[in-house]
Parts: sequence; C-alpha cells; structure tokens
Amino acid sequence: MKPHGIMFHHFHGAGHPQAQGTVSADDLNRVLDHYGDRILSAEDFYDSAIKGNLLPSHTCLTFDDRLQSQWDVAFPVLNARRLTSFWFVYTGLPVWEEVFWQFRAWYGDGKINPNPSERFYEDFDNWIVQPWKEGNVSNCVRMPEDYLDHEHYPFYTLYDRRFRYLRDVILTPLEYMHRMLDLILRKANHICLNHWIGRLELSALASLGHIVGSHTVSHSTDMTKMDGTDQLEEWLDTDDDTDLKAVSYPYGRGNSDTLAPKTRLAFRSCMAGYDGAHPLNMPREDVANILREVTK
Ligand SMILES: [Zn+2]
Repeated sequence: MKPHGIMFHHFHGAGHPQAQGTVSADDLNRVLDHYGDRILSAEDFYDSAIKGNLLPSHTCLTFDDRLQSQWDVAFPVLNARRLTSFWFVYTGLPVWEEVFWQFRAWYGDGKINPNPSERFYEDFDNWIVQPWKEGNVSNCVRMPEDYLDHEHYPFYTLYDRRFRYLRDVILTPLEYMHRMLDLILRKANHICLNHWIGRLELSALASLGHIVGSHTVSHSTDMTKMDGTDQLEEWLDTDDDTDLKAVSYPYGRGNSDTLAPKTRLAFRSCMAGYDGAHPLNMPREDVANILREVTK
C-alpha cells in the first residue's frame, strides 16, 4: 500500500443516467465502509502530505470535473458522514467533451436503444458500423489495421476504434464538434449545458471545509504537449475560482515543474509509477478498480 487519493467522476441517481463508469450513492457508501478511518478529511490529508507524514494506508476522496451529479448524489453522502474531500474543477465552461459524454449516456437510458454505443456510432457516422455501405459520409476512410490494436487496447471494440479514428485522426476538433452538435440537435432537440456545479455550490463546499482545487482552465487532453508558459497559465488563470494549493492534472498528465508556485499537492490519475512520497505526484486509484475488489 501507498498513500493515494480515490478518484471519482460521474454518478448516477437523482435524475442522472446510469452509463459506463457511473457509480451510485450505494457504491460510494460501500467504498467508505471498506476504507473506514483510513480516509482522511481533505485538510488532514493535505497537511500530512506536505509535511511528509502520510502513512501508507492513508487515503482521501477526490471528485474531478465539477460534475453536477457529484453535488446531487455524492455530497449528501459525505455530509451525512461529516466527511470533507477534494473537488477539482476546471473553469473554462463549457467543456464540450462533457456535453458529448452526457449525450452518449442519454443514448443508453434504455428507452432509446438497448445497445446504446452501437446506435450512437451508427448515427454519428455509418462508416463506423457499416464501412461497406454506399453513401456514408466517411466512406473513403481507411483505418490502418494497427490503429488502437487489440494487443495494446483490448478493451476497445472494432466500432470503438473506428469512432476514435474518425474523431482523433480524420476530423479536426472543430469538425468533430460541429458533427456532434448536429447530431445532438437532431436527436435531443436541444443542447444541454447544465452538467456542472455552479460557483455558489463551490463556495458552499469550501465553507464546509472541503478543498476546491484547480483542474486547469481548459482540461486539455495532454498538458505535456504545451510549453511551460502555457501550462502555468492553465493553472494561474483558475485562481479566482479555485484554490491552487491542491490540484489535479487533467487526464493525469502535466509537468510537475510548471505548476503554480503556491501548489503543494497535485494528484495524478493512476497508481502506477508514483509512490505517494512526493506530494506533487500523488497517485490515485479509480473507484471502478476499488469496486471490483470490494464487490468480489
Ligand atoms: Zn478531469
């Protein structure tokens, strides 16, 4: 064991749809019961981390991406237990990838289609599911055989790979965005922008002793591709809304020497490669991995 954070993203319940990777209030309670008093409050974890006093068994709770479902589902559980945690929020709203994630989850609500991802892929672009079909928007696309190949990415289906190939290689980010928004407007009739916790709720959390830390402005997919000045700006420009003393790297990526000067604790998003001894490279375990163990 090594000190680490427990990483949460989407919750279901209280009107939020169940989708791949979402967890419920019951799941959260199960994790809290399992860890017991090894979970420190946010301030205790922070103080112990920067003083080098964390024990290998110590952990804490972290919520990334300021998702409304965390406020609606997780906060009541924490409040009932008088437990504080870290909330890592990006400030450059809207972050479109979240709007798109929610839309894909909407496909999965059971009423739409029992096979949501396949249906979504077909509607996004027929080429993904039926590459031979005449008249596909992308029917001239040829994906290389080894793109996200099975040996390295065993969890992706052929359709997952084709979708990612279109999104990440063939389309520009702007083309991808327009195509998603077209689809959302055609299927759901409106673009929903209420997925994030508002400033008032963030202030409420801070007033209760939670630590609301920065998760950058733009939630860039790979901070390490930015130069040092741009990385630093991503942190500093969140200063009015968030506490820079504790942060989490977007997608776990970013350089620890280009953090804001006042940052003392920074969370990665996996366990491998980080021993928990250096507070600017604090590892985290995804709650999905913990639930697999707890429910065995
Ligand atoms: Zn994030």
